[in-house]
Amino acid sequence: MAPPKTYRCEGIILSYKPLGEADLLVTMFTRYQGKVHAVGKGARRSTSKLMGHLEPLTAVNLSLAHGRSMDIISQAEVINSFSTLKEDLTGITKGQYLAEMVDGFGAESSPNPSLFQLMVDTLRVIEAAPESEMALRYFEYHLLQVSGLMPELYHCVECREELEPDAHRFSPNVGGTLCLACSPEDAHLRPLSLRALKVLRLLDRSQLAEACKLSINGTLSNELKSLLSTTVSYWLGKEIRSNSFLEHLRNETPPEVYI
Ligand SMILES: [Zn+2]
Repeated sequence: MAPPKTYRCEGIILSYKPLGEADLLVTMFTRYQGKVHAVGKGARRSTSKLMGHLEPLTAVNLSLAHGRSMDIISQAEVINSFSTLKEDLTGITKGQYLAEMVDGFGAESSPNPSLFQLMVDTLRVIEAAPESEMALRYFEYHLLQVSGLMPELYHCVECREELEPDAHRFSPNVGGTLCLACSPEDAHLRPLSLRALKVLRLLDRSQLAEACKLSINGTLSNELKSLLSTTVSYWLGKEIRSNSFLEHLRNETPPEVYI
């Protein structure tokens, strides 16, 4: 039996770029089809019914037709435009940071409904509280987890000894926490304070809303931010551009031009 020529999906737009005279090439992450690239024919024309529906960080229901090289978007219905988030510079930059990570970790023809839900839930939290840093830490930690890169927090990844509440070491590339006795040759070891280990375990056990009630700052906040973003970048194989811009925003010295 021939495969169906059209299909419907729920997705969130990650990015787009102009294609030809009036088309858009859209990258989205869908709930059940993984990452999808598709063309919005004529979507840049002001008369197009797709106009405004394919903006990055918009949750949509789409109808698509299988094309020869790329699928074609025939209909789009907005589920959530995250309009409040997009009005806030910090909010939209954090949203772009999530989109870059999902673009990097998501794969075509590889559904990951947990990652899709994680992104939607985190965007909602950031929209309500753009300054919340815990939402990003929760996202980074669970992005690794739902991608099968579960950072181990309870046993040494080398000798499997249970880790007592104490300062240990963390390695992005060998899968998590190590006791002080183990130093695998290729591990990029970094110190892990007891307080940071406790917050990581809380992120592991908590729901997003519960984790975001925790307020941390100063040294501990910087340690977790550095540890998780380094781990994400290691697996992604590159630095995440929006993360640099977020740093500028935190330091209140945004560069004059972005993108
Ligand atoms: Zn060990």
